[in-house]
Amino acid sequence: MQLPTLPFHFSRAPKMKIMVAVKRVVDYAVKIRVKPDKTGVDMSNVKMSMNPFCEIALEEALRIRESGLASEVVAVSIGPHQCVDTLRTGLAMGADRAIHVETTSQLYPLSIAKLLQKLVELEKPGLLILGKQAIDDDCNQTGQMVAGLLKWPQGTFASKVVLDKEKQVAVVDREVDGGLETLCLDLPVVITTDLRLNQPRYATLPNIMKAKSKVIKKMTPEELNVEIKSDIEIVQVTEPPKRKAGVIVSSVDELVHKLKNEAHVI
Ligand code: AMP
Repeated sequence: MQLPTLPFHFSRAPKMKIMVAVKRVVDYAVKIRVKPDKTGVDMSNVKMSMNPFCEIALEEALRIRESGLASEVVAVSIGPHQCVDTLRTGLAMGADRAIHVETTSQLYPLSIAKLLQKLVELEKPGLLILGKQAIDDDCNQTGQMVAGLLKWPQGTFASKVVLDKEKQVAVVDREVDGGLETLCLDLPVVITTDLRLNQPRYATLPNIMKAKSKVIKKMTPEELNVEIKSDIEIVQVTEPPKRKAGVIVSSVDELVHKLKNEAHVI
């Protein structure tokens, strides 16, 4: 007996889910102070915000969903209880739901990458988008590490992302030292965002209200079976040396003379 063919809408592949990693960091406008005992940065009464590159990552995910190429955007943050505020901001920008992996442990990129790997295995997104770096530690490692753990292709420092659902590829323009590099990467893929990718939206008041009823799922590193440990020991944190005042030279000859005889760089 011949089985009836399924109607078209049953045979269509389900739309893709996008996962976005958003980190809570000291706000970019805060002038940070080193603690007097040099054990770290003074965090008391400091304004915290979503890492700017993560805002760009979330904006890109929202634009892809709005263009009809994805069905859901899931924001993920790892860290202490206050990460919920960062996730609420993400939900107010337009993420559909959020996951908070709560931990008070000191976190470094490899632990974050292992946790994200587990979340990807659970949620099965077609795209994982991260910021190229967090402005607190400036590591620029997590995206590359999670791509390695997942064995997914990676498009880092993205300044343009075009998805082709037919061919199941992402075409990513990357900002590299020599200019732009264009990669064609098979989905699923890890993308990290550079500054020029987009201009993130502000959350509107109605969306801030709506975000209050969106779901934030709580998880722990133990539930995800990830042990958080680090091989890094912070010995001392110090301020960078103060920059000396510059000098204005009156001619190229004087500049060359100073570079040769005073700065000793040529
Ligand atoms: P990093 O490698 O620390 O410079 O961070 C790069 C990116 O990894 C960030 O922009 C985030 O997208 C992601 N990331 C790092 N730490 C966290 C965290 N604690 N929670 C969520 N995402 C994170």
